[in-house]
Amino acid sequence: MEKGCLFCRILAKEISAKMVHEDDRAIAFEDINPQAPTHVLIVPRRHIAGLNDVGADDAALLGHLQLVAAQIAGKRGIAESGYRTVLNTGRGAGQSIFHLHLHLLGGRGLRWPPG
Ligand code: AMP
Ligand code: ZN
Repeated sequence: MEKGCLFCRILAKEISAKMVHEDDRAIAFEDINPQAPTHVLIVPRRHIAGLNDVGADDAALLGHLQLVAAQIAGKRGIAESGYRTVLNTGRGAGQSIFHLHLHLLGGRGLRWPPG
């Protein structure tokens, strides 16, 4: 657990969140400021600041986050209509919480390119 990290505190249950999924490697919860009807964050249990901080050993974990996103999309009924998984890296790309997380967005049309 990283001191002062909001997502580590959610993982430690010090701060509540609307949980969607929990397993041995990751959790998923509703984004507090949803940008789409489905906006879920998939978060590894281990504190990793961002994609610049992963190594080859983390390949399976990164894949796991995507698989969890696909499972949630299936359960939400948006697998066919379409959804997007997003991993913001660095402030310039919109990362505001420096505990790696994957956004799952769907339930509405999503434009391309993103802003
Ligand atoms: P990013 O900007 O990619 O770092 O994403 C951080 C996301 O965390 C944003 O979409 C926020 O709305 C979301 N967020 C911030 N605080 C909380 C919280 N307490 N519970 C759930 N989501 C949060
Ligand atoms: Zn953390």
